[in-house]
Amino acid sequence: MRIIVCLKQVPDTNEVRINQETGTLIRDGVPSIMNPDDKNALEEALKIKDECGAELIAVSMGPPQAKDVLKEALAMGADEGVLISDRAFGGSDTWATATIISAAIEKIGNYDIVFCGRQAIDGDTAQVGPEIAEFLNVPQVTYVKDVKVKGDKLEVVRYTEYGEYVFEASTPVLLTAIKELNNPRYPAIKGIIEAYGDKGEEKIRVFGINDLNVDPTQIGLKGSPTNVYKSFVPVKNKVSEIIEGKSSKDKAITIVMKLSELNLI
Ligand SMILES: Cc1cc2nc3c(=O)[nH]c(=O)nc-3n(C[C@H](O)[C@H](O)[C@H](O)COP(=O)(O)OP(=O)(O)OC[C@H]3O[C@@H](n4cnc5c(N)ncnc54)[C@H](O)[C@@H]3O)c2cc1C
Repeated sequence: MRIIVCLKQVPDTNEVRINQETGTLIRDGVPSIMNPDDKNALEEALKIKDECGAELIAVSMGPPQAKDVLKEALAMGADEGVLISDRAFGGSDTWATATIISAAIEKIGNYDIVFCGRQAIDGDTAQVGPEIAEFLNVPQVTYVKDVKVKGDKLEVVRYTEYGEYVFEASTPVLLTAIKELNNPRYPAIKGIIEAYGDKGEEKIRVFGINDLNVDPTQIGLKGSPTNVYKSFVPVKNKVSEIIEGKSSKDKAITIVMKLSELNLI
């Protein structure tokens, strides 16, 4: 079995700041991490590898520093990394990003499962996984909270606010992981030493625009069908009030009176 896991390097969200004049993210000095849902996708792929044997290839599209998430994946147990990086890819929206990542996946070839996270904590659209599935023309199951390999098929549990759905999926298939899927492992010391040394470097291939079968008019800022009109952090203007009272009943009465004064009940 061959599993490809898509990992996005994202800024640590607690640290995200926006340049109020340009509306762009301030990335300087902001620590980067592997997108949390992607770590769950990676962990599940590693579990399948541990239980059934599989070749696991981690893929990330981004600037050269995105290699760090691939090294982290190697340290956790991935066999190989592919960094998709080229100036021509800059400014890509989700459509163009998925176009480029699916071209890379097609170049890697012979995959059984493509694993993505449900959503990236910076872009937050949850579009890239489903778009990759469409471009590759493979079925998809999103919001996955459990996967079992059953012969040449998968039993996949999809979690929604209304309940759980159990699907039987044939491969190749694209799955998007949610945090309920598992608890990602910590890499072993040996894995860390190898991944961040020469061995790790040798295991990472870099794909640029000339390596991929993509139409240059469909990628980058110019090839993106959507554009960001404005980015801003919403101003928080919530005012909290602690309701005092001798008993719960007194407090409840006060709350009801206040809500009634505001015509809310
Ligand atoms: C007009 C426009 C211009 C943009 N310009 C830039 C820019 O210049 N620089 C920039 O950094 N961003 C830019 N973006 C944002 C960029 O398009 C998104 O970050 C990217 O498409 C991923 O979307 P998302 O974050 O919503 O991911 P989601 O759709 O929420 O991610 C779902 C899953 O897809 C996979 N995935 C997503 N992105 C990647 C990736 N890069 N590598 C591997 N796996 C991935 C992961 O498994 C992830 O969990 C731009 C967006 C628009 C609309």
